[in-house]
Amino acid sequence: MPSSVSRCGIEECHYNKNFECNAEGIEVLSSGTKKVKKSAHTMCDTFIPKQ
Ligand code: SF4
Repeated sequence: MPSSVSRCGIEECHYNKNFECNAEGIEVLSSGTKKVKKSAHTMCDTFIPKQ
């Protein structure tokens, strides 16, 4: 069942099927920057690579 994520372009993720996220929920964190000022400073921590 797809999550509320409207679209995810990370096809390499285990949860991604046809650009839909099938994780029950996702956790989004800073990508390492001290101050988050744009989307590029964020990342999905729920990502796991496809086998
Ligand atoms: S877990 Fe994160 S990276 Fe993986 S499909 Fe969902 S939103 Fe995309």
